[in-house]
Amino acid sequence: MGEVKLEHVTKRYADVTAVDDMNVEIRDNEFVCLVGPSGCGKSTTMEMIAGLTKPTEGKVFIAGHDVTNLPPKDRGIAMVFQNIALFPHMDVYDNISFGLRLRDFEKEEIDRRVERASDIVQLEGMLDRMPDEMSGGQRQRVAIARAIVRNPEVFLMDEPLANLDAKLRVHMRTELQRLHKELDTTIIYVTHDQAEAMTMSDRIAVIDSGELQQIDPPLTCYNEPKNLFVAGFIGSPAMNFVDGEVRENGFHGENVEVEFDPADHGLSVGDEVTLGIRPEDVYLTRDSEISTPTRVIDAKTDVLEPMGDEIFVYLLLDEEAGTDLDDMAGDAFAGQLLMSVDPDSDIEEDEDVDVVLDRSRVHLFDTNSGEAIVHGITSKMPATSADETPAEGDD
Ligand code: ADP
Repeated sequence: MGEVKLEHVTKRYADVTAVDDMNVEIRDNEFVCLVGPSGCGKSTTMEMIAGLTKPTEGKVFIAGHDVTNLPPKDRGIAMVFQNIALFPHMDVYDNISFGLRLRDFEKEEIDRRVERASDIVQLEGMLDRMPDEMSGGQRQRVAIARAIVRNPEVFLMDEPLANLDAKLRVHMRTELQRLHKELDTTIIYVTHDQAEAMTMSDRIAVIDSGELQQIDPPLTCYNEPKNLFVAGFIGSPAMNFVDGEVRENGFHGENVEVEFDPADHGLSVGDEVTLGIRPEDVYLTRDSEISTPTRVIDAKTDVLEPMGDEIFVYLLLDEEAGTDLDDMAGDAFAGQLLMSVDPDSDIEEDEDVDVVLDRSRVHLFDTNSGEAIVHGITSKMPATSADETPAEGDD
């Protein structure tokens, strides 16, 4: 059974802690992606599971056994890496069967395993091809077949699709999901690409600075991120963030206010909080049919990016705000907000618009610790006072 457990695993190099007290339990037959920015410790974590690197502290268990001191070959794992190292002078059959032949498997058993593996990765009819007669995607499938014939309990894949072009990468993602279904084995997959992680995994382990931030199904990470890091890393384009504070009637940030009773969300007046809202949860008031809008926010459209199935609209909430789009990638709020609208919307650049946020999709985070406080404002909006425009309906 392919369970993998990391217990207080830490890896320190001379002046860096690459992995810091990692505790993870991966279930048998699960597809888990380790995801995070470059240098966050994904590969080091993988290497410790594989046995290529020894933890400074902590233990690694595979299938219930403590494998911390076992070499890679005795761990019941098979690895597929970004750089596909096929033997150039061997055909596909010999490449796939190399490890089995080295370990003196019977010819019949080798044939049986190669046939099954090449069937699974759809390389039938190509067993006598040489690597230089194949495309990048086909070579990667040979590498995967070579891992399959070992009948591992756990597959470890470190950015195996990184060198393929975009179209092939998307295709191979589907193939890997199919492979996972057919093989019934645990797959642990390293990627820096959150979209890849979102589409393939049963659960995503989000890592930052060597620390596990959250391990949950993709949609849980998306809808209920545990902290500001996960909120900003998962989802593209990134979540908008607005710093502010809690007042008696709710959240007050620069140009953005959301009314609620702080006590309903365990908040107190003066708390420093950061509001998070995804681009698809910001609406033009004129198009909006959402049942839980905030009060109207005045904005001016800046740049539009038509994507085909949606249009990204960069909004300026403050005439003074800069138009440096780099500022908007989930980082500091500078009077700007990114909104996604329907492709048939008649929106234009430099247009004055009224927008609302969907209250039920507003996230609040503790600005200092980064921890999530609330996903969705559930308390009712207080009664409208005479000098403010109601956001919806009651006129
Ligand atoms: P990722 O796979 O997420 O890009 P890595 O696990 O490769 O990250 O690296 C995590 C951190 O550990 C980085 O700061 C990296 O520079 C450092 N690191 C990795 N391997 C070594 C090593 N052999 N010696 C020193 N530092 C290392």
